[in-house]
Amino acid sequence: MQELIRAKEEGLIKHISFSFHGDPNDMKVIADTGYFDIVLAQYNILDKSNEEAIAYVKNLGLGVNIMGPLAGGKLTAQSNITSELQLSKNTTIRDLGLRFVFANPNVSCALSGMQNMEQIDQNVAIVNSMKPLTQEQICEIDKIVNNMKELSKLYCTGCNYCQPCPSGVNIPLVFECMNLHKVFGFTDWAKVHYARIGNDPYMGGKTASKCVQCGACEAKCPQRIKIMQQLKDCAEFFGY
Ligand code: SF4
Ligand code: SF4
Repeated sequence: MQELIRAKEEGLIKHISFSFHGDPNDMKVIADTGYFDIVLAQYNILDKSNEEAIAYVKNLGLGVNIMGPLAGGKLTAQSNITSELQLSKNTTIRDLGLRFVFANPNVSCALSGMQNMEQIDQNVAIVNSMKPLTQEQICEIDKIVNNMKELSKLYCTGCNYCQPCPSGVNIPLVFECMNLHKVFGFTDWAKVHYARIGNDPYMGGKTASKCVQCGACEAKCPQRIKIMQQLKDCAEFFGY
């Protein structure tokens, strides 16, 4: 850190930024150190957990760059959110996602991952004709997303109490993938996410088919989820 500060004092770098993946309160603590000029943080329709912290750091004078404005690509696919919102013919969920982020006056910039020219053209067109969402529209979206989140809690809260599984099954992650499909309708995304289990350094463990039905997890689940049966269903749906 001292070297970064020295480099800034010597004019070798203009701004020091930090990217953030932790508890929102810690974002404020880091910003309060006074070392940083910019934060890069996650914020989108599905995940507003950083909203208050973003407002706080913006008020301190930091720039706020957003990563994942389209929820890592989830908000580019057809989903239950799209149908619930009854979007007009010319509005896409991608359009809504970006307009939502830019409706927040504390956002300085949004970094949306793009994989081809078509996606670049779509994003440029949206930003060129940008009409940030109104507060009324944001409230409507919040209501729909929160209802879906409540529904997903009925299945699994991700509390991790059932872990570790002696066979290594990552139960909460398997159920998270199933919820992406069942509750939010992000079926394609759910399949991609599921394929990462055990293959991505941040998504360790094994998939549902590795469950040997020993029953050790069920007594530990405060939601009393019939984990063994649910895992069978997941293995059948995802195919492994
Ligand atoms: S029932 Fe399946 S998921 Fe649960 S602890 Fe046993 S092997 Fe793991
Ligand atoms: S204990 Fe139950 S609610 Fe908690 S993560 Fe495991 S399955 Fe989900």
